[in-house]
Amino acid sequence: AVKFGAEGIGLCRTEHMFFEATRIKAMREMIVAKTVEAREAALAKILPYQQSDFEAMYKELAGRPMTVRFLDPPLHEFVPTEEADIKLLAEDLGKSVADIKAIIAGLHEFNPMMGHRGCRLAVTYPEIAAMQTRAVIKAALAVQARHPEWTMVPEIMIPLVGEVKELKYVKDVVVATADKIIKDAGIDMKYEVGTMIEIPRAALTADEIAKEAEFFSFGTNDLTQYTMSVDRGNKKVSYLYSTFNPAVLRSIKHIIACGREAGIMVGMCGEAASDPMMIPLLLAFGLNEFSMSASAILRARKLITGYSTSELQAVADKAMSFATAKEVEEYMKSFVG
Ligand code: PEP
Ligand code: MG
Repeated sequence: AVKFGAEGIGLCRTEHMFFEATRIKAMREMIVAKTVEAREAALAKILPYQQSDFEAMYKELAGRPMTVRFLDPPLHEFVPTEEADIKLLAEDLGKSVADIKAIIAGLHEFNPMMGHRGCRLAVTYPEIAAMQTRAVIKAALAVQARHPEWTMVPEIMIPLVGEVKELKYVKDVVVATADKIIKDAGIDMKYEVGTMIEIPRAALTADEIAKEAEFFSFGTNDLTQYTMSVDRGNKKVSYLYSTFNPAVLRSIKHIIACGREAGIMVGMCGEAASDPMMIPLLLAFGLNEFSMSASAILRARKLITGYSTSELQAVADKAMSFATAKEVEEYMKSFVG
């Protein structure tokens, strides 16, 4: 990505780091734990893996910033579904098959996207956020010690926040954990705690959330899903899923305005940030940072630097005057060419 001109990593999803054989075992141990102590013991096994992953990434980035998103998906995604795997897990953890099945059944949700995911996990189990904070901060301190010429400022991003109270609760856990580690290390290092705005409740109260967040990042994939009430993966209703829908666009415009008003950086890490038809609108709304896959950077860079402010304003005003996603898309297509 750096070769393509990336200035950092805008979205480091952490859940994929848990799927490798040795790690998933500790993750499952954490999920089946019945007490805080047992959960913390399992998390302590995951910590060195996360930390070494972050260290490797910080080293590769050579001082460029990276936004690390804390655990986001519902926990059922980490437990086995096949009978044979359930049996193996039971043996591994010294529990009965019936016990493991009961735990897995307990994780089942009819509507997981509306359920126990994102920062809601950290609210129930703050020790998960504490472990992830340790991993990020310790990794950054280690790399900073080896490279005094870099200025490491870790960015921690709390997903699926609904309102300021929720962010404050998780941020307090992060700050208490991080400050202690930094103090013990005797190295002066700053860090930032921000949040993703991806559910309508957060979008509507973005002005309040901006008082507590040190940066905003859009999760446009989820923001579109929740604003439109359309499951991202459901083909039967995918015709309704469009980030160009006027409701989603108004939401995006409002969130950027709230962030800018509060003087914080506003970035976007959902798929929309690399869409050539969306980029002019995001620029007009005042977005500060665009996060995308490496292969999209060159084209996006050209677009980002290619428009004048007055041209962008006129296009955004026109785009916002349409009543349907289709009209907006057609108009933006004709504009971008
Ligand atoms: C998003 O929701 O836009 C996002 C970037 O997160 P994810 O796709 O991982 O839900
Ligand atoms: Mg998301």
